[in-house]
Amino acid sequence: YLGKIRARSVQASARDANCPSGIHRSPKRVLVTGGAGFLGSHLCETLLAAGHQVICLDNFSTGMRRNITHLKRVDRFNVIAHDIVHPLDLEVDEIYNLACPASPPHYQADPIHTTKTCVLGSLNLLELAARTGARILQASTSEVYGDPNVHPQVESYWGNVNSFGPRSCYDEGKRCAETLFFDFHNTHGVEIKIIRIFNTYGPRMRPDDGRVVSNFIVQALTGQDITIYGDGSQTRSFCFVDDLIGGMVRMMASPSSLTGPVNLGNPGEFTIRELAEQVIGLTGSRSQIIHRALPVDDPRQRRPDISLAMQELDWRPKIDLSSGLRQTIDYFDGVLTRPARELEA
Ligand code: NAD
Ligand code: UDP
Repeated sequence: YLGKIRARSVQASARDANCPSGIHRSPKRVLVTGGAGFLGSHLCETLLAAGHQVICLDNFSTGMRRNITHLKRVDRFNVIAHDIVHPLDLEVDEIYNLACPASPPHYQADPIHTTKTCVLGSLNLLELAARTGARILQASTSEVYGDPNVHPQVESYWGNVNSFGPRSCYDEGKRCAETLFFDFHNTHGVEIKIIRIFNTYGPRMRPDDGRVVSNFIVQALTGQDITIYGDGSQTRSFCFVDDLIGGMVRMMASPSSLTGPVNLGNPGEFTIRELAEQVIGLTGSRSQIIHRALPVDDPRQRRPDISLAMQELDWRPKIDLSSGLRQTIDYFDGVLTRPARELEA
């Protein structure tokens, strides 16, 4: 299916402890799975800018080729079309495992494949890490906390997750992936890094992604009704993509004793109704708010406790919701076609 791919050899030397962000270390061969997706494309860009050789691997299910078109000019950038549920063999120094649909409508569209991606995909990448000695980071999620009874969520909280609901393929898949990461660490000495990402948004989300920030912005810009699920009193904490990527590379560069899990997110907590009002205000839209049924097992509240990330990674988000939303609105304003808009009508 894929065959053996040997990446060009780049000398991998010791990590430079003098670089606080961890990004300006000696050049490495870095595999980014899910590299054509929203977060993955920003990560590839950041790693290339720091001089690394980057292999972007993606099955292009929710990722978009246009997210990485501008990176193809860099000769240190390679793209592989592959599905991580199948084994793979590469020579790499570091692996960031981001491959997995993250939006509820997308991960629920083929729930069996979502579980396979989380579990078999992680297994294949951990076997690759064990063989090559690569350090491997898992993009885990706040969804491992389910509908949390502890607020804000600390890493030591075990969560409240339904094992057979519509969200379970993702939530339980990601939980099992964490289990596999620790078992490879304990059994084979694989260097693991687990981050639990809380709702992150920004440019390069798909207009049809289905998550709340992109939905509201697209609806506002095109004059469609803004769809609040339930009464809008449920909360989320929204992190801008640039902040998140900064935390991710710091985690990869952290001492090997730090396995995580470490929460990464913005502790600012907003109701979904507040988010809708901010988007309407920032876009100047005349869209009306309407209500739709609350999805099954939709978590009531979400806010990360980021004490561990602040202490161990010297990281905290810098971009507040309104400035992050402005940048995201500008992005969608550019990608949505003018005739589709009803704003000017
Ligand atoms: P995304 O859907 O934009 O990106 C996922 C990428 O993975 C896409 O490019 C997709 O084509 C690819 N992919 C999916 N299944 C694959 C498979 N089996 N093999 C190879 N490639 C596959 O989502 P995102 O927001 O960029 O999320 C990236 C990662 O971060 C995911 O693992 C997600 O679970 C995690 N995460 C994201 C958030 C967030 O708020 N954005 C929150 C928590 C966790
Ligand atoms: N949501 C909403 N309208 C939308 C999309 C989502 O009200 O068009 C709600 C959803 O029910 C949830 C919150 O916004 O309470 C965040 O949803 P999202 O899918 O972005 O992330 P997740 O539920 O996985 O945290």
